[in-house]
Amino acid sequence: MNIIRASITRFNSIEFNVDNINDFNLVQFYVKNRDKSINIISHYNNNNIITLVLSEEVDIKYPCTLYYDEHTFASCDYYKLFACEEFNARFFTLDELGLYYNETFSEFRVWSPVAISVNLLIYNKGDVTDLTSKPTKIQMSEINGLWSVRVDKNLKGRFYTYEINVNGNINEAVDPYAKAVSINGGRGAIIDLLKTDPIGFENDAPINHENFSDTVIYELSIRDISTNKNAGIKNSGKFLGLTEKNTKTKNNIPTGLDYIKYLGITHVQIMPMFDFSYKSIDEKNPYKYNWGYDPQNYNAPEGSYSTNPYSPSCRINELKQMILAFHKNGIGVNMDVVYNHVFEFKSHSFELIFPGYYFRHNEDGSLSNGTDCGNDTASENLMMKRFIVDSMLFWAKEYHLDGFRIDLMGIHDIDTINTLRHKLNILDRNIMLYGEGWNLATSLSNDKKATISNSSKLPEIGFFNDITRDLLQGNVFSKIDRGFISGKEDLESKIMSSALGCTKYSNFISGPFLSPLQSINYISCHDNITLWDRLMFTNSQESEENRLERLKFAIGILLTCQGIPLLSSGMEFAISKGGIENSFISPDEINSIDWERRDEYIELVEYVKVLINLRKTHSGFRLSTLDDIKNNIEFLFVPSKNTVAFIIKSIDITDSWHNIAVIYNANQYSVEVKLTPGTWKLVTNKHVASNKPISSHNGLFLAEGIGVSVLYNTH
Ligand code: CA
Repeated sequence: MNIIRASITRFNSIEFNVDNINDFNLVQFYVKNRDKSINIISHYNNNNIITLVLSEEVDIKYPCTLYYDEHTFASCDYYKLFACEEFNARFFTLDELGLYYNETFSEFRVWSPVAISVNLLIYNKGDVTDLTSKPTKIQMSEINGLWSVRVDKNLKGRFYTYEINVNGNINEAVDPYAKAVSINGGRGAIIDLLKTDPIGFENDAPINHENFSDTVIYELSIRDISTNKNAGIKNSGKFLGLTEKNTKTKNNIPTGLDYIKYLGITHVQIMPMFDFSYKSIDEKNPYKYNWGYDPQNYNAPEGSYSTNPYSPSCRINELKQMILAFHKNGIGVNMDVVYNHVFEFKSHSFELIFPGYYFRHNEDGSLSNGTDCGNDTASENLMMKRFIVDSMLFWAKEYHLDGFRIDLMGIHDIDTINTLRHKLNILDRNIMLYGEGWNLATSLSNDKKATISNSSKLPEIGFFNDITRDLLQGNVFSKIDRGFISGKEDLESKIMSSALGCTKYSNFISGPFLSPLQSINYISCHDNITLWDRLMFTNSQESEENRLERLKFAIGILLTCQGIPLLSSGMEFAISKGGIENSFISPDEINSIDWERRDEYIELVEYVKVLINLRKTHSGFRLSTLDDIKNNIEFLFVPSKNTVAFIIKSIDITDSWHNIAVIYNANQYSVEVKLTPGTWKLVTNKHVASNKPISSHNGLFLAEGIGVSVLYNTH
């Protein structure tokens, strides 16, 4: 007989199962914890899961072993105990964590109910590879799992870590709450955070907007936007690169920040800029490329994006300068956050400080790996949930961020994400919160996951809309699958739903969302092949001109759909990554934005720019509730296939466009659409996007193929 898995489920009970239930005698079991035996006072069997009730509580600072005989035993894991209410009642804390600094004293707090002892280590130097720097060791004291110490000195400029005696090991860990870190994130840094603000930051605030549907998001990478020589940006690959004004290509067309402003988007979404692993990018020598979805220190910025990664304040100051520069140009900054996994589970502070708590485990005790990155964090455990909430609130307040894009949000539990929204609402309702609601194979029941299928339980959260993405361009997992914009037929009714942000419009036209604000409409982002590369696969027989029409068609649909559009930087000038599907470690030559290509495709850029402007000027494109959609949007009957046409009644009485007609014709040929009576002015077709009428139409309108047509009337 073998014990398959034994778990401590309460402080005085153990649950286990065995491979052969008929083969053993229950009274024979005994338990050892902290070198003593604990008596079993009762037991019961529920579907071959046996529970033992112990005569006293297990000491969770020490291992616990369940014995049948000297050959048959199992060490008990504590994962279920850490998740239970009894544990939370005793150890969950809302006390401040991390470092509190002022000039006269510093106080350090770290949470680990399983640690036997914790020391604070203070260093003069931040580089862990410099072995000449020996730490001063200061003992910390514990109250209910919270370890703290106060040092009555000005510790500014020093570095710190924690030395934790846990699970029979002495671990050295960076404070997970560290707000400043040393080179390569090796140690926490003691700095005066107030001194990191650039001039003018005290008066800076997030960008205002009335509704989230008023935003147009532009995803970019700090590195990619400025590393190409033709960007004309001095601080190549740095936060400061995005603060430079008057940067141009040799054709005298703006790049970087000026270009982003010129395009007219409202928010940038910035790929990881928290401190990611030194194994992904060595901050001392950042020649290797990595996107940075490899979290190391959640609350500090990445060093390789600063001009001096050796200075803990520099990276903070320069990131704030970048945010300030965007805000001065009326652009919000959304941060891509990655709380769903850490780069390396074993060496991460979470695991070094409190083994087994911060990561999710499968029923058999193995690590859950729904992220496919080796580990999933356990947001359902209250102190992990608290960490995520604390961390995002810290970023929002300290850096004046405008929003968060939650990577693999479907790994997290619904309650954590709703709590985040609730806390952000208290701070500033303008802060955007949206993420990837994919349903991944993580060890959390489906009804608890923050996925698209549970979006009705997350009414104020936005979701990357893969329904519209795949409808437009084809299934993302197949390079050759076509979608509406690339020639797949019979998608009309589904495209009607996409046009309404996949909201629950009617019995026939419906999607998962309660509101258009839940739908982040996109085709391309950093993941998967670029739209232009995809068209090279799906429409390889066509001319470049035809493929460009399809690209324009795709972006035209995104910008005229209800919901929140998200563009990937460079898609508006047909950016290519040479067909590479996952360029996370591809060199700069693949990833960097080629600004001369932008110059080459400037007509395409102009088309997108005008469409963004039309969207921003006319509120009909930006309805914010399902009721507004139901009351103001009607579909027109179109006898031809592969065509969708609808009319949006203006809800804004000051808008001279009383009705807007939008037509998506995916055929290669023109299609007649019968408009409602009156005179309609065409402003956008497949060739041109304009703020002014191009032509007037009554009755039948001939909508050109592979293109969006937008018309309006004033009565
Ligand atoms: Ca780093």
